[in-house]
Amino acid sequence: MNTNQVINQDSTTNIMFQSKTIVCIECGNNFDFSVDEQKFFHNHGFINQPKRCPNCRVVRRLVRKGQEASLASKVNCAECSRETTVPFLPMQGKPVYCSSCFVKFGGGKKKRSFVS
Ligand SMILES: [Zn+2]
Ligand SMILES: [Zn+2]
Repeated sequence: MNTNQVINQDSTTNIMFQSKTIVCIECGNNFDFSVDEQKFFHNHGFINQPKRCPNCRVVRRLVRKGQEASLASKVNCAECSRETTVPFLPMQGKPVYCSSCFVKFGGGKKKRSFVS
């Protein structure tokens, strides 16, 4: 007789991470929730998966930082020329974008600063 064995993996001892695609609630883009990031989240006891793509996270962080420092400058976006407030002092000669254009241009470099 052949009993169908159900492999019941113990989730506490053998966690399988699989990279998955999440839709950002901010900009609606798909982004990868990578295995590394999942491990990072797991190791830090985060039970919620990220809701925002890396770009939107960077923007949010900048905005929050700016609010804390109350360092907001009014500038005109170099792309759409809309007036926008940026949470930092724009450098001379450097184009400044509003948050939506910022995201469109990739939102700065991807920061992967996980300590292994
Ligand atoms: Zn996003
Ligand atoms: Zn813009």
